[in-house]
Amino acid sequence: MYEDLRKKLYHAHIMLEKYNLVEYTSGNVSVKTDEHVLIKPSGVPYDELTPDDFVVVDMKGNVVEGNKRPSVDTATHLYIYRHKSDVGCVIHTHSPYASAFAILGKPLLVYSTAHADVFGVEIPITKYAAVGTEAIGEAALSVMNKAGAVLLDHHGVLVVGKDINETLRKAIFLEEVAKTAYFARTMGTPQALNENEALKLYEFHHKHYGQTK
Ligand SMILES: [Zn+2]
Repeated sequence: MYEDLRKKLYHAHIMLEKYNLVEYTSGNVSVKTDEHVLIKPSGVPYDELTPDDFVVVDMKGNVVEGNKRPSVDTATHLYIYRHKSDVGCVIHTHSPYASAFAILGKPLLVYSTAHADVFGVEIPITKYAAVGTEAIGEAALSVMNKAGAVLLDHHGVLVVGKDINETLRKAIFLEEVAKTAYFARTMGTPQALNENEALKLYEFHHKHYGQTK
């Protein structure tokens, strides 16, 4: 089942590793189809992962296909899909620079044009919620804004998007802007960009950036 999608999902996991967003077994990507969700199996290291390993679950979390246990974060992903119908992909990582803000309980303000381009607004911080429950999904959605990314208090990062490509791009750029923000905050006291200017940059970027299809 879902042979092509399995390959795309596998590639997304490899990209997480390539961009240093995950270590060993941490982090996961899921993707939604009309009736199912495909997600990383629990505790499988990236260098052992294959496209066949992804677990297909229904919207209640029952395993439909797969001989491995799904990620412990499956309930979190499913909560988001059930409550936000425009989401087609969810990525969770402990990418270090963004997670440092999460551990401090601080939102990531729009310090750079790169942040404004991709996200438009600050990346909010959730309240603390325990791993492995729907509570993380609930905490994430209660603060989620148009950025489609949140910092999970004392934990890591959760990013949502309409498809794998969009969500992966956001996960990679979130870590990049968090890294820049970290350096700036180490060197001094950066000020956030003006809110309207940030939104203008976001609109321009989403209209004009990249190649026309
Ligand atoms: Zn985690």
